Order: sequence, then structure tokens, then C-alpha cells
Amino acid sequence: MKLKICHLYPDVLNLYGDGGNIRCLTQRLRWRGIDSEVVKMPIGSGESLVDCDLVFIGGGQDFEQQVLLDDLHRGRDRELRAAVEDGMTVLAICGGYQMLGNYYETHDGQRCDFIGALDLYTVGAKKRMIGNYLFRCDESLGGMTVVGFENHSGKTRLGSGVAPLGTVIRGFGNNGEDGTEGARYKNVFGCYCHGPMLPKNPAFADLLLSTALARRYGAAELAPLDDALERMAHDQMVKRLGGDV
Ligand code: GLN
Repeated sequence: MKLKICHLYPDVLNLYGDGGNIRCLTQRLRWRGIDSEVVKMPIGSGESLVDCDLVFIGGGQDFEQQVLLDDLHRGRDRELRAAVEDGMTVLAICGGYQMLGNYYETHDGQRCDFIGALDLYTVGAKKRMIGNYLFRCDESLGGMTVVGFENHSGKTRLGSGVAPLGTVIRGFGNNGEDGTEGARYKNVFGCYCHGPMLPKNPAFADLLLSTALARRYGAAELAPLDDALERMAHDQMVKRLGGDV
């Protein structure tokens, strides 16, 4: 078994160690004897996503999101929409999450038209939403808690076609107002969780891996790993943020 993982726009969307998510995914596969191949697709890469199993997109400032627009609208947008509809597993963080939506309007009124793979939009607020945060995933995903760090100006609102990834326990999440965090549509998982997200949320990392393996190989049971250290890091942050472990 082998998974092909794409790191999309690593040159511009990669904040707060987001790239560590890829290292976490490949290591968790290696520990289970499963191969992986990581393909970086920066701006200008002509490489196709079509045979990838999992796409990771990190976060970036408003400036970087504007820098990638030309490349995005030279075909990457259509390709991403098709991949999403085809059930490809995608993890998108913050600026990358916003990019999968319809548009982002910065707090000073500059509009980035994005790709509309997810029915959501984002509007920047003057006051940034910053800090360590905690949310609980929807019961359909096992109700696991996720810890991380958020730093965004954008307030994201979900349309009727997508479900929130979870509910905020501490912090801001999508917009600091409606208590939702992130979005889930088919096998796409978007959220504001920097950190990087996956090393201290190993159950979420395995959710992505099993989703991608199931699409490629049919039902995929992941062998359990010794996650004692990872779980300790996770639980410590849950406690610091006032949640229950
Ligand atoms: N530019 C976006 C915002 O501030 C995304 C920031 C990020 O990716 N951390 O809302």
C-alpha cells in the first residue's frame, strides 16, 4: 500500500509549522509499514493532482493569498473542485481553508475570488482572532477534541452545503460568533488549526489517513500506534484550555 500526498502551494501557504502535518502523516504511515510519496506543488507547478490521495494546504497571510490567485485561476481551481467532488481527502488550514471557499474579502475591502469547492465565504475583521484554541469534532467524526493555534482576521460563514467540522470549546473558530469551527464536505476537512495541527491530534491524523486509504484500497483498518506522548501533549493543552479529557 502507498499514499501519494500533495503539498499544495508550500512556497506561499505554510505558516506556524503547517508543513509538520505532512511529516506527521508520512511518519504515521511509515510506523505501519505503509509507503508514501510527497509531491510539492508550488506556484507554477504543472503537475496534476489527479492521482493524489491526499492534498494538504496550509495557511498564509492576505498577501500570499493574493500572490497565488493568478496561478489558482489558471486551472488549479477546476482541478481542485473536481478532486473534491471525486472524494479526494483534503486538509486545508486557515488561508488554505479560506481558499477552498467562494471568496475572501479583506478587512480593507480587497476581494480575492477563490474556487468555490466549499460553500463558504470569509470576510476580514479589524480585530484578529488569535490564540490557542480547542474544539470538538462532530459526532459523525467520533466527537474527538482538537487543540491548536489560530490567528486570522477572516470570519468564515458556512453555506447550507457544508457542515461545520466541530464546535468551539475555547477560542474563536470560524467567526467567533456562531460557535462553529471549520468545515466538512465529502472528504475535505478545513479549519483554522495551526500548530501544526496533526502531531498533537493523532486521532485526527488517523482519520485523514483512513479516509484516504479507504478511497484508494477499500475499507482500511489502521493498526494502532503507541500514541502515549502525543496524547499527553494533547491532553495537557485540553486541560490548559479548560476542557475535559
Ligand atoms: N489571511 C487570512 C486571515 O488573516 C489567513 C491567515 C492565516 O492563514 N493564518 O484571515
